[in-house]
Amino acid sequence: KWETVDFSHRKDELGQVALSFNEMNKRLKRMFDTQEQFVANASHELKTPLAVIKSYVRLIERQGHARPEVIEESLETINHETDRMHHLIQQMLTLVAIEKGEQLTFKQVRLNALLKQVSKSIALAFDRLINLQLPEEDLVIVGDEDKLKQLLYILLDNAQKYSDDAIDLRLKKEGDHILIEVEDRGEGLGELDQEAIFDRFYRVDKARTRETGGTGLGLTIAKAIVHQHEGEIKVESVEGEGTTFQVVLPAS
Ligand code: ADP
Repeated sequence: KWETVDFSHRKDELGQVALSFNEMNKRLKRMFDTQEQFVANASHELKTPLAVIKSYVRLIERQGHARPEVIEESLETINHETDRMHHLIQQMLTLVAIEKGEQLTFKQVRLNALLKQVSKSIALAFDRLINLQLPEEDLVIVGDEDKLKQLLYILLDNAQKYSDDAIDLRLKKEGDHILIEVEDRGEGLGELDQEAIFDRFYRVDKARTRETGGTGLGLTIAKAIVHQHEGEIKVESVEGEGTTFQVVLPAS
């Protein structure tokens, strides 16, 4: 029970203590609610692939001996769903670690080289054209290289999932900030969705993102990584035209 104490009539020290107690109580309740919501969502997300796996196991049991092709098809789906669950659990663990305040390894990161490396592997993996625009000077920040790489992967992977044309990846310096922009010419996002996409498990079109293997956790992780680096992430989008994600990091 989350009871509050009513000492609002008291202006003395006890009144002050009661006020802080109520404030603390509210914060704890919010924390527990968020945690509860997370567990509920996570269980729900894991149940779907599990149900699919179970139904294919049953299919093999019923028909496998008479129709060997059923075994092959079923195993393919089971394999795919297992990968999905693995990816989801991996992402959940990443989020939990971030929220527990994990220790990062901060050192100098050469951004030009990092962007080159990540854009090359995404271009190769998904056979997509990525227009990389780098400044002449080598931009360096103090950060966690693995985390920054993960951030770029999330944004570029989304851009390739939700668009079909070339993707722009830009790096530039403006004043004492470093900007990284990922721009696609894809389906875009409505205004309400633009606010919600950073929330845990939020997906604009659940059915479609299930096909693309989406979990709704990518952008939540991306935002958390940017905050770990004391930066900001913004989205600009026009439905039917495309989306730009902009990461603003303090230049060290
Ligand atoms: P997911 O794993 O589903 O991609 P994310 O947290 O990375 O999860 O993204 C949340 C949702 O935001 C996606 O399901 C998708 O609907 C939307 N989204 C993300 N990136 C883009 C993009 N570049 N263009 C259009 N929609 C996007």
